[in-house]
Amino acid sequence: MGAGDRPGRHRDVHGQGPWPQQGLRRRGDAGARPRPVAGAGGPHRVRLASGPGAAGQSARPGAGGARMTRPVAAFLLAALLAPLLGGTAARAAIPDRALDAQLAQLDRYGYNEPEKAAQQLRALAADPAHAGQRLHLDYALGRNAVYAGHPETVRRIASDLEQRPGGQPLARMLLAELQDRQGQTGRSGDMARQALEALAPPCPAQPAQTVPADCDARVALQALRLIARAQGARGEYAFADTSLRRALALAQALQDPTAAGVMMGSLAVNSQVRDETATAQQWMAQAWQTAQGDAAAMSRAKMVESMVASRRGDRSQQLAALEEALRLAQQSGGRRDVALLQNNLLDAYIHTDQAAKAVQLARLALPVVQSYNDQTVERTLRHNLSVALVLQRQFEPARREIARVLELAQGDFDPVRRALQLRELGEAYAKVGQWKEALRLYHEERALSAETARRNRESSLQQLRLKYDSEARQRDLELLRREQTLKDRELGNRRLAQYVGVGLAALLGLSLILMGVMLARVREANRKLKAKQSLLRAQSERDPLTDLANRRHFLAVMDRHAKDMFTGALLMIDIDHFKHVNDRHGHAAGDAVIVEVSRRIAQAVRSEDLVVRWGGEEFLVFARNVAPDQLQLLAERILFIVGEQPVQTAAGALRVTCSIGFAHFPLPPAQLALHWEQAVNWADMALYTAKSQGRNRARGIVTVEAGDAQALIQIEADFDAACSSERVQLQTLLGPEPPETPEAAH
Ligand code: GH3
Ligand code: MG
Ligand code: MG
Repeated sequence: MGAGDRPGRHRDVHGQGPWPQQGLRRRGDAGARPRPVAGAGGPHRVRLASGPGAAGQSARPGAGGARMTRPVAAFLLAALLAPLLGGTAARAAIPDRALDAQLAQLDRYGYNEPEKAAQQLRALAADPAHAGQRLHLDYALGRNAVYAGHPETVRRIASDLEQRPGGQPLARMLLAELQDRQGQTGRSGDMARQALEALAPPCPAQPAQTVPADCDARVALQALRLIARAQGARGEYAFADTSLRRALALAQALQDPTAAGVMMGSLAVNSQVRDETATAQQWMAQAWQTAQGDAAAMSRAKMVESMVASRRGDRSQQLAALEEALRLAQQSGGRRDVALLQNNLLDAYIHTDQAAKAVQLARLALPVVQSYNDQTVERTLRHNLSVALVLQRQFEPARREIARVLELAQGDFDPVRRALQLRELGEAYAKVGQWKEALRLYHEERALSAETARRNRESSLQQLRLKYDSEARQRDLELLRREQTLKDRELGNRRLAQYVGVGLAALLGLSLILMGVMLARVREANRKLKAKQSLLRAQSERDPLTDLANRRHFLAVMDRHAKDMFTGALLMIDIDHFKHVNDRHGHAAGDAVIVEVSRRIAQAVRSEDLVVRWGGEEFLVFARNVAPDQLQLLAERILFIVGEQPVQTAAGALRVTCSIGFAHFPLPPAQLALHWEQAVNWADMALYTAKSQGRNRARGIVTVEAGDAQALIQIEADFDAACSSERVQLQTLLGPEPPETPEAAH
């Protein structure tokens, strides 16, 4: 296995690369207030992982943020957005520009010189000018306690922050840093994620060019670095890459080249781990570029270069880069950085068969690392030492170191790191002929590596799936949106069709109703018309005074039933001396008499017989089915019913008689057929004889001596003569005798 697979030392690297710091310094150094005591040329930190968050650890404090000037645009934007974004509490938690720069710088300084940085931090915290930013000052003190290796202080500050509004994310970040420092990378990542999620408002979830003014980018950046470290440790390199890019975006938004350089370095290592050499080279070049002018940052860039070389198996470049890194670290004056680099260098010695040199270097670095109470680095250092001891065949001390390494892990199991350690140890044992131990370690390592590979595959797949899901969701959404639009249109059309349909139906219904109404009206009008017509007709065929049928009605009846030959009996009735009634008693009395006589005649006949008011005081009775002997009884009955009782009028009771002429047709004995008009004439002629013989009597034709119609016409022409010659025989029926009292007569 190439040196690139060497575990121990670089495992930490995932999380943080070098942080160029010089850039800042170069550009102006205005605010380099906290002058780091660490003189130039000091040692360098080695273990990138354990460096201070985004802020470069060995950074020369003076340089850092003080002179970082945020662009006016960002400031204006923040000012403009602030009221819109609300959350004054969240904004209050973010240090102002000057303080943020100062704190970032002290953070880097504190990594190497925690005690000195703590003094300056305490002074800042005591400054009433910073009363409103106590939250972040306490947080900075907490981070400083992490660097100093004072876990109790860190927990105390964390629990204090946890209680304060807006302090929760900061508290969690402190605990995450502490866990990271203690080698519990996985737990640290989980805690950092909690911190990130507790940030209100949240910072962008994806690498973004612009960051909201009230997003606490500094804290988010630190959280993302720890998250990436945990992801890398689990072999989830694709996730780690995303986290690091987010962190890089935040560092750039903060205009913090140191932090940006760290992220670039971490991205380079993360790429090389995945054998993406070209990408790793690009990140490295960017990191180196960013670091120019800052020895600490350049040292870190060299450190990354060595790790990438190691990963590639290029031992000589690894060594050369490390030695250059160490030189630069010593130049920048970071004690801790130097110790860390020594740790890395001893790994390189191990793999270049310089075990004795490695052991020597480890013994040198160990007290320094321990002085920081940095268990993670100590663990790595002790592992490297154990490998070197195995190579030196000092198995017992080696076993002690191995046990100590596991102890320092404190139950935090990092499969990637552990697999690399196992491989290195296995190789060492094999090299010195300890085959049994080598084989055991090899099997253990294989199992772990297989698990790591599986996780890496899973994370890549998951990443792909997330990307696909999001694209597929977009497509689905677009499809849904189009479908919805179509449906809306279709619905609109359908509605329109419905409206039109309903409108037409309503129109049709209305038309039908109108037609119905009109039809009903027409029918009703027709019915009324008919009714009126029949009424009119009925009225026209009735006599208004007596309500008897009139002559027109009789004509209609004759038209229907006796068109050619008249059969039946006719009685022509005329009131006697009626003129006298009118003359003596007035017209009204005359009317009353006419009405009463009508009533009496109607009463005398059968219901089937027709009584007609023929003229003024003349009446015609048409009895269709009456035998000749019955006819004379009828005539007699009429004489009596009219004349027996006086008629009551307004002018008094008046005696009225009538004369009747009657005949039965066809005329006996020859049964000659007559037209109805002729028949009426015969009845009228008989009446005439009754009048002429003295009135109040009825005269009926009994026989007529005539052989044919011509003979009848001759008789009619001189009826009187025919009567005298007895060619016509009449019977006479007398009416009631006049009463004794003379005044009853007319
Ligand atoms: P006779 O015995 O010969 O029949 O004599 P008469 O007076 O009855 O007959 P005449 O024909 O001379 O007179 C009939 C009169 O009846 C003439 C007319 O003024 C009157 N008259 C006709 N119609 C009406 C009517 O509706 N009401 C009244 N009050 N008088 C009527
Ligand atoms: Mg008359
Ligand atoms: Mg008369």
